[in-house]
Amino acid sequence: MRKNSPSTEHRDSLRRLPSVDRLLLAPAVTTLDLDFPHHVRVDLAREVLAAARAAVVKGAAAPTLDELARRLQQAAAQRFQPSLQPVINATGVILHTNLGRAPLSAAALQAMAAVGAGYSNLEFDLAGGTRGSRYTHLTAALSALTGAEDALAVNNNAAAILLALSALAAGKEVIVSRGEAVEIGGGFRIPDVLAQSGARLVEVGTTNRTYVADFCDAITPATAVILRVHSSNFRVMGFTHEPNLAELATAAGSRGIPVIYDLGSGSLLDTADFGLHPEPTVQEALAAGCAVVTFSGDKLLGGPQSGLIAGKSDYIAAMQRHPLTRALRLDKTTIAGLEATLSHYQKAEALSHIPVWQMIAAQPSELADRARRWQQALRSANAAAFTASVAPAESAVGGGSLPGETLPTRALRLSSPDQTPDALAGKLRSGNPPLVVRIERDAVVLDPRTVLPADDEAVLRALQALIR
Ligand SMILES: *Cc1c(COP(=O)(O)O)cnc(C)c1O
Repeated sequence: MRKNSPSTEHRDSLRRLPSVDRLLLAPAVTTLDLDFPHHVRVDLAREVLAAARAAVVKGAAAPTLDELARRLQQAAAQRFQPSLQPVINATGVILHTNLGRAPLSAAALQAMAAVGAGYSNLEFDLAGGTRGSRYTHLTAALSALTGAEDALAVNNNAAAILLALSALAAGKEVIVSRGEAVEIGGGFRIPDVLAQSGARLVEVGTTNRTYVADFCDAITPATAVILRVHSSNFRVMGFTHEPNLAELATAAGSRGIPVIYDLGSGSLLDTADFGLHPEPTVQEALAAGCAVVTFSGDKLLGGPQSGLIAGKSDYIAAMQRHPLTRALRLDKTTIAGLEATLSHYQKAEALSHIPVWQMIAAQPSELADRARRWQQALRSANAAAFTASVAPAESAVGGGSLPGETLPTRALRLSSPDQTPDALAGKLRSGNPPLVVRIERDAVVLDPRTVLPADDEAVLRALQALIR
């Protein structure tokens, strides 16, 4: 084949490329900060030289040693760039599951660092000098905030539901409304989780209408639990009926059957205060008589990934004894972050300290100010190359909470006659840190609501780099 037989000219250029050993011993390279094991340096040098050889064969000139050294440094930086890295979320979706859901508060991060950096009393009773339990660190705060008798935290809400059903309903029947035997997302389907727990699903009612009587009529000696699932990522409209939670809990309770409620996001604050549809709060669900509620730690709670379980103490105790609890247990840093997050609620400072709530509470006027500052960064640009305006738009809460609900925002709309919105979005994603935007009506849209104020300067730099 042609490309395997380079011309004389190419052969000369190829001959000018150094060997791996000569490259690594060149002064331009030995002065670099390449403090890796020899085999790693050799590997990087091979990579750089192979790329140079391929370019020469295609007609490029042989790079100088200085240039090869520069490429070597770049290759090293790339190889040791962590795969998981911070990004700036300008999509306007507050709880973006693909972008890691809730950003954590400064206090949560501090608590996680403090406990992660050394030893802790994770499972150690300091007063008695004896073995303790990792779960006790969170119970007092969770009980005080929700009104529950007892509480438990595990890896995530999916784990919480699996554990609750495994501990309370294995080998027995679980009654679920037809409208709630749903897929939550990422392949997490209620009927499958139920099967995994060893419980049998008994569906009652219809997709749009289910009554208390439907549940009661389905109760048999084999019934262990009634499971309710919050419709967190869809909404059934029109001719619908859901049984009143308190009526259902009373009717089931009089027959000795606990109601477990998967709240999904499980807010501790009333979302209606922010002009949003009211999400059921954890306190309300327990006050209505649910025996057990489960919810995520990294949705509206605004903490690290976890699944919280609150409810009657004998059911929580049964879960604590179940062998799955060991497999689903939380890491010490997560417990520290959760405890600090819950403490914000106890001190009534969630709105000012928890990023998720700061974002929900942000006002369009302040968002407009921030979007206008970004717009200024584009003023210097060749006026014809970009169009930038600050316009009304909608932010979303996301993360399987408040489906279809949006918050009015002011966003920067950016477009260019010679670049598609996809191309612009791709360039912003390739920056350092990557900037993730959404595309709407043929423009790139940057919503300040989900950009942490500390990242405003980085957004300015990304926009300036884009127009250069
Ligand atoms: C998000 C959600 C889950 C899953 O929670 P994870 O914490 O992601 O495991 C389960 N049920 C509902 C209703 C949800 O909204």
